[in-house]
Amino acid sequence: MLELKNVSFSYDKEPVLKDFSLLVKAGEAVCMQGPSGCGKSTVLKILAGLIKADAGTVIVPSKVSVVFQEDRLLPWFNLEKNLRLTVGDEKSELIEKLLKEVGLGDKLHSKIDDLSGGMKRRAAICRAVAFEGDALLLDEPFNGIDKENKVIVANIIKREFLDKGKPVIMSSHITDDAKLLGARIYKFE
Ligand code: ADP
Ligand code: MG
Repeated sequence: MLELKNVSFSYDKEPVLKDFSLLVKAGEAVCMQGPSGCGKSTVLKILAGLIKADAGTVIVPSKVSVVFQEDRLLPWFNLEKNLRLTVGDEKSELIEKLLKEVGLGDKLHSKIDDLSGGMKRRAAICRAVAFEGDALLLDEPFNGIDKENKVIVANIIKREFLDKGKPVIMSSHITDDAKLLGARIYKFE
């Protein structure tokens, strides 16, 4: 389960979240929708432990998988090495299996700069899946991925998280993307 209860957060003096509450149950997917700047990435960063709420309660498993709004792949390492850095060398088989599933089986040794935007996004999702957290946080995860591959990655997320009773929270302004995960929509006012 993931929960924020009466959470407040400000960057300097600029309030972003005020008395914000949201619960994602075990095996449930929730999609946050709202205009740019409303605080979706901030919620995910609080859950990821990157920033700390000023007030309120945050309940989150100690090990979470995260797909950031940016791909966060290092251009001086190849694709496989990028995933191994986060996931660990001992999971090389799992990394290879997942990359193959999303159509990147022949890109393991490719330079990051030689990959398309959609390929990098799929790789960032594979990295989060292979990390095997007890919850998954996704910040606009499917941006730049074509329809066919969106279905493939969504099915992997369902299989590896939702079907195992692990909660998933995402941000996306595309309702069809939320539907791919069967996500409940949470709208910021
Ligand atoms: P969203 O993901 O919904 O577009 P964010 O959570 O990224 O929104 O941002 C919410 C608000 O906080 C915006 O007004 C944004 O400009 C501001 N903000 C985000 N990150 C920072 C930061 N590091 N420092 C100061 N303000 C920030
Ligand atoms: Mg954002």
